[in-house]
Amino acid sequence: MKPTDIPKVSIHGGHSGEFCHHAKDSLEDIVLKYIQKGFEWVGITEHIPPPNNDRRYEDEIADHLDVSFLTQKFMQYMQKGKQLKRKYQDKITLYIGFETETYTGYAAHVKSLAQSYQPDYMVGSVHHVDDINFDFSPSVYEQAVEKAGGIIPLYARYFDSQFDMIQILQPKVIGHFDVIRLYDPKYGKHLSDPDIGKRIDRNLSLIASQKMILDFNLRAWLKGADEPYLSRPILEKVRSMGIPVVPGDDSHGLDSVGLNIERGISLLQSLGFNTRWQRPVFSNP
Ligand SMILES: [Zn+2]
Ligand SMILES: [Zn+2]
Repeated sequence: MKPTDIPKVSIHGGHSGEFCHHAKDSLEDIVLKYIQKGFEWVGITEHIPPPNNDRRYEDEIADHLDVSFLTQKFMQYMQKGKQLKRKYQDKITLYIGFETETYTGYAAHVKSLAQSYQPDYMVGSVHHVDDINFDFSPSVYEQAVEKAGGIIPLYARYFDSQFDMIQILQPKVIGHFDVIRLYDPKYGKHLSDPDIGKRIDRNLSLIASQKMILDFNLRAWLKGADEPYLSRPILEKVRSMGIPVVPGDDSHGLDSVGLNIERGISLLQSLGFNTRWQRPVFSNP
């Protein structure tokens, strides 16, 4: 198939300034931009609200957004998402979901959100190791390395938390599988460390057995990485295991809607992945 004939999709996207403090623009404008760019379907997967004030992101703390405000926003997000899904159903298929966390207390919290809001699906992501939000900034990442007792222990803790999260939450999609490499220039070496490789293989086997989908997260390019999450050696393992991989733009505003989608699609196509993208839900709405 010519790359231009392959459907544009995003299995992890649509963070908006309307509902996320570190994103920009309104959700409806973001949906309109996906339509304008010719996307066939998009999973809108906003971050969840925290279970209490201690688990807020640093920027939410700095701006005094409390847990009741953030919870209220999330409720409005789910409502708005479902409205937009109906409003634009003739132009684009939207799935309305959310992206998880793994901080202390997440299991009961996420399960109760899923129960209350009935999302189309969840993106299972890890942004914390031992309650440190390592992807927030290089300095927070450095704190996480110190707390873990080194970079390899940090990677190990990350992949162990991911394994637990997959078992506990059973998300349909695994977000940015190797995002722990974010601020680590020597990630190639660290991902191939035997202790880490073992964990990666274990997590991928679980993902394969549960028929989950991996987010091919294009936002890595925007943040200056040489390659998306998943990195190339992991991608090759994934292909040999037959796990579906689907592009996710992880957009956080109009300027990142669909960014690098063509580049991502041609990379997956050149590596021999199935480009009849698997959807995160079984039946089409
Ligand atoms: Zn975000
Ligand atoms: Zn994420």
